[in-house]
Amino acid sequence: MSSIMAKKQSFTSLQKEGLSNLKTTSITSANIIKSNRSKSPSIKKFVSEILAGNISYLSRAITLIESTNKKHQKKANTILEQCLPFANNSVRIGITGVPGVGKSTLIESLGSYLIEEKNKKVAVLAIDPSSKKSGGSILGDKTRMNKLSVNENAFIRPSPSSGTLGGVAKATRETVILCETAGFDVVLIETVGVGQSEIEVKSMVDFFLLLMLAGAGDELQGIKRGIMEIADGIFINKADGENKTKAKLAIQEYKNAIHLFPANKNNWIPKVDSCSAIENKGINTIWEVVGSFVNLTTTNGSFDENRKQQAKFWLEHTIQESVTSLFYADKNVALKLKELESSVLEGKSSPFKAAKELIAIFKSQS
Ligand code: GDP
Repeated sequence: MSSIMAKKQSFTSLQKEGLSNLKTTSITSANIIKSNRSKSPSIKKFVSEILAGNISYLSRAITLIESTNKKHQKKANTILEQCLPFANNSVRIGITGVPGVGKSTLIESLGSYLIEEKNKKVAVLAIDPSSKKSGGSILGDKTRMNKLSVNENAFIRPSPSSGTLGGVAKATRETVILCETAGFDVVLIETVGVGQSEIEVKSMVDFFLLLMLAGAGDELQGIKRGIMEIADGIFINKADGENKTKAKLAIQEYKNAIHLFPANKNNWIPKVDSCSAIENKGINTIWEVVGSFVNLTTTNGSFDENRKQQAKFWLEHTIQESVTSLFYADKNVALKLKELESSVLEGKSSPFKAAKELIAIFKSQS
């Protein structure tokens, strides 16, 4: 019985359809497909195709960035370095808000508006802290962006579904560079407004947009005060139908709240307004607000200064991540770590003394 099953499984679909003797042909073609697939284009080819706006090469380069394979990472780093001189020329916008507030719907309408009315090329990326746990990710369901996902001037890339938040954020920041090289002049980065990921997104965007709902209260929306403080614009979404009056009240509430926050170093006073992503209302206002922000900050120099500080943040962040992973990958450290962990748990050693000892082991080998 099992041998019959094995034989059955070895049939190709063509053989099943009655075309005999195709086994060798099928193996040969499979080998050709395999070898073509494994032939990765040269770095030069990658860079020139990305520069020419080739989406398929852009996607493949992003896959290299997201890969945990050392060879892929090395290649990705060289591609990135060669793309850097062509990057930096987009407006980077972070969009946050609790699930259900309308982020995807807004990105669909804002993206379409920018492409159709403003002649822009729009890239949409995401950072999703929950993707590791759930295996899914925001933007994974592209059906929520029907129009945008088929537009040739839009590029939508879901959040990488594996890796630490820091790793995912780093990959997203590098992806921004590739998208800019490919000619995308607006980059929208979506994130769920519930915590740490906002700080990571803030450190890679120029303008940070917070979407809120009217009449739901901050507590209910799970939006931390800290997130409101880092927003450059707060828009009350779903300001349509019966919600319009509530939205007006909410605008006033948030304007009052903003007055209590410390002033921004860049002299920008965050704007509060409303929109309806579904009815395409207020979408142009969002873009006008972004425009005023860019005008003010480029004039007073804080736009460039912010990007410089962000580069510094990522330098430090990357050093920290790399040193930590080198430390834990060290065999001698790993061996001693278990022993010292037990001592600390049993109260035989202080955590500080144990840490010092481990670092000494690590240092003695480098
Ligand atoms: P996300 O989870 O923040 O990405 O939210 P979605 O974009 O998926 O929207 C959640 C739900 O709210 C969907 O059913 C949308 O159709 C609806 N929605 C989004 N924007 C608006 C809006 O401006 N007005 C109304 N009435 N509904 C909206």
